[in-house]
Amino acid sequence: MSDAAEQYILGIDIGASRTAFGLVSWDGKIFYPEIIQSKVEGALLIDRLLSVSEKILGRAEAERKEVLGIGIGSPGIVNSQEGIVIAAGNLPELFGARLKDIFEQKFQLPVSVENDVNADAVGEMVFGVAKGQRHFVVFSLGTDLGGGIVIDGRLYRGADFIAAEFGHLTLDLGGKRCVCGGYGCAREYISGAGLAERGREELPGESLALKMVGGDREKLTSKEIFQAWQKGDPDATRLVDEFGKRFGALVSNVMKVLDPELVILAGGVCRAVPEMVNLVVRWTRHYYFPIPKLPEFCLSRFTKEDSVLGPVAVFMVERRSDQSACSPKKNK
Ligand SMILES: [Zn+2]
Repeated sequence: MSDAAEQYILGIDIGASRTAFGLVSWDGKIFYPEIIQSKVEGALLIDRLLSVSEKILGRAEAERKEVLGIGIGSPGIVNSQEGIVIAAGNLPELFGARLKDIFEQKFQLPVSVENDVNADAVGEMVFGVAKGQRHFVVFSLGTDLGGGIVIDGRLYRGADFIAAEFGHLTLDLGGKRCVCGGYGCAREYISGAGLAERGREELPGESLALKMVGGDREKLTSKEIFQAWQKGDPDATRLVDEFGKRFGALVSNVMKVLDPELVILAGGVCRAVPEMVNLVVRWTRHYYFPIPKLPEFCLSRFTKEDSVLGPVAVFMVERRSDQSACSPKKNK
C-alpha cells in the first residue's frame, strides 16, 4: 500500500440547490472540484451523481491516484449505518434511496453516507475551525437550516439518526405546517428560503430589497434582504431584527440543552453575511442565562467547494475506527 498522503477519497456533498464533488487527499487538498445543480428538469439526480463520480474516478485512475472510497453527505434524515436516506424534504427523489448500496455496486469501493450537516461537523473537527474541540454545535444556514452536534469529540446521531434537526424545532406555536409534518418550525424563519418568504409577504412595494429585484416578489432572495439591511434600510432592518431574535432564541435553547464550548455558523447565508456572528451573539445573549461567559462563536471557513471535506472526513473517521477495531494491538 502506498503512503497515506497519496491516498484519496471522493467526496460528494448533496445540497438542496447545488451538489459539490471533489477528490480529496488524506491531508485535505481538493482535486477535480465540480459543482452541479441538484434539480434539473427531466433528469434524475442519482443518475447525474453517478455519472459525475464516474468521470472524476476515471481521471484519478488515469493519473494513478489510489482511491480508498467515497464519502457522501445528503440532506434529510440519513441512516448512516445502512447508507439510506430516510427522508429529504427538499429533494423528494432521495426518499428511501439506498445510496451506499448503489455507489458500492457501481464503483466497487467502500462508501459512507451521512446527513450533510452532521458531515460538516466532522469536517470542522478534522479540517476546519473545530480542531481539538470536544463539545460543539453547527448551525448550517443555506436554503434550509440544518444542525450538527459533537459531544466529547464524537458526532451525536441519536437513537434513530434524527438528532440535531435544529431547523425543525418549534419556534411558533401557531405556525404553518412544515414539510416535516410539524408546525411553526424554525426553518420557516431562520433559513435563506424562510427569510425570503417573510420578505415576499411583508415588505412594502417601495422597499429597497424589492427594488433590487425590479419589484418582482418572486425573484426576492435573502441576499437582497441582507444587502438592504447592510445599507440601513428600515424595512429590511425590521425583517433582519426578527430573524436575529428567532435565531438567537434557537441558539440559546440548543445551548441550554448541550452546553457547547463552540458554536459554528456555517452555510451559504452565513458566508455571505459577515455580521452574522455579531447578530446571533447579540440575540443569544438576550435569551440565554445572564452569565458573563458565552461559548466561542465563529464562522465556518468552508466554501461550497470545500463542503466535500465533511463527507470525506466521515469516511476517514469510520475507516480509522474500523482499522483500530480490526487490529486491537494498535490500541494501548
Ligand atoms: Zn419542520
